[in-house]
Amino acid sequence: MKYYICDSCHFQFERTGECENCPDCGKECVRESNEAELAEYMKLKKEFNK
Ligand SMILES: [Zn+2]
Repeated sequence: MKYYICDSCHFQFERTGECENCPDCGKECVRESNEAELAEYMKLKKEFNK
């Protein structure tokens, strides 16, 4: 599993493969999340699943 973030709208998501387009805004501004962003994403995900 890989974790990505969109530089345009800052939407974060996970994918099993490569990803170039943001599923939220559709722009090709997607890159892999850094450690801080990933930590934030995991935190939100945990709260969302409560
Ligand atoms: Zn986006």
